[in-house]
Amino acid sequence: MTSSDIVIIGAGVFGLATAAELRLAGHQVTVVAPDTPSASAVAAGMIAPAMEAAIDGLPVHVADMLKMSRMLWDVFATRTGIDLQDMPAEWRGEGVERVMLQMQRHDFAHSYDAQTRTLTTDEDAKLDPVTALERMGQGITRINATAEAVFREGDHWLVVTSEGVVSAPKLVLATGASAAIIGLPDAVTRIIDAIIPVRGLIGITRERLSEHVLRADGAYVAPVNAGPFAGGSMIGATMETGVRDLEPDMERCEAMLAAAWALLGVEPRPIEIEWRAGIRGASPDGLPLVGDVGNGLYVALAPRRNGWLLAPLVASQLRAEIEGQSVTERTLDPHRVLNPSDRTGFRP
Ligand SMILES: Cc1cc2nc3c(=O)[nH]c(=O)nc-3n(C[C@H](O)[C@H](O)[C@H](O)COP(=O)(O)OP(=O)(O)OC[C@H]3O[C@@H](n4cnc5c(N)ncnc54)[C@H](O)[C@@H]3O)c2cc1C
Repeated sequence: MTSSDIVIIGAGVFGLATAAELRLAGHQVTVVAPDTPSASAVAAGMIAPAMEAAIDGLPVHVADMLKMSRMLWDVFATRTGIDLQDMPAEWRGEGVERVMLQMQRHDFAHSYDAQTRTLTTDEDAKLDPVTALERMGQGITRINATAEAVFREGDHWLVVTSEGVVSAPKLVLATGASAAIIGLPDAVTRIIDAIIPVRGLIGITRERLSEHVLRADGAYVAPVNAGPFAGGSMIGATMETGVRDLEPDMERCEAMLAAAWALLGVEPRPIEIEWRAGIRGASPDGLPLVGDVGNGLYVALAPRRNGWLLAPLVASQLRAEIEGQSVTERTLDPHRVLNPSDRTGFRP
């Protein structure tokens, strides 16, 4: 049996960001997750409070949360050795006035070119998700296995895997859009059952299509600056509510590629693209479910589109809760799912 201060189930961005935050604060952390790609690994890695708040027309308190997490990223990236690149993001064409109004409403700096109908913000940034996951996992004990069951024995949680049992007084669930693990308390199972899968298809190519992030209705194009596709680009991403199938659907991929050519303002041409799929978990109100659910059990779940952006905020909130500090930010309280009149976010 492996013993630890804290065991975290899940090695996506929420699991590993929380693990890194806790390790840097001096806790001994063990992460349990199979060695398979997560939604986090296929993501574009845009840290994009300005564009995301504008595109989704978020309420001001939610946009402020995105802004806060973007600020936390600067320190978090330095502490974990992640290469976070400031990168302009540009909205082109249809809908530009709507996006600009939202940026004004949320007080994000931007510039507008009326002639080309483009809007640019320097508030957003970008990272490479696979490299960032590796960096966050440094110095952390990792068990490459699925957690098959959990149970509470005395003042400890036991996590049962095919590679043995892990024991810790504190357990964090960061299992993305996956089903509830056997042995969880009923209320926690009900919270997890409320998570909605949202499939995202994304293409990656070795061709450089743009040096910064371009966005429009129907597609975005972002540069890839690390990993095997360094020097290439990503084209993303669909939002398919209720879909869990990881097999890319070529009709949707072709439609997204057509939207990307239109965004780039060039004629469609043959291009080699590898299409990938990731399943995001979304709460019913679109905001993550984060915090203490009792008896040394914590959740970090369901960030929908902005898991990378929100990771430092979520990790620092969980560290505070695990260390017994009072938490003033109750917006992400997972119990709101059990009491729908208490929803604080927005509907996806
Ligand atoms: C195509 C696409 C593009 C995206 N682009 C962006 C972007 O640019 N910016 C941004 O902020 N967000 C983006 N996102 C969203 C972001 O990727 C997600 O919000 C985020 O990855 C969710 O992270 P997570 O840790 O909650 O879940 P996941 O990444 O799904 O990780 C869940 C982890 O739990 C593990 N797990 C599940 N069940 C068990 C079990 N029983 N035992 C052990 N381990 C288990 C899994 O193996 C995995 O390691 C994108 C998503 C997609 C799909």
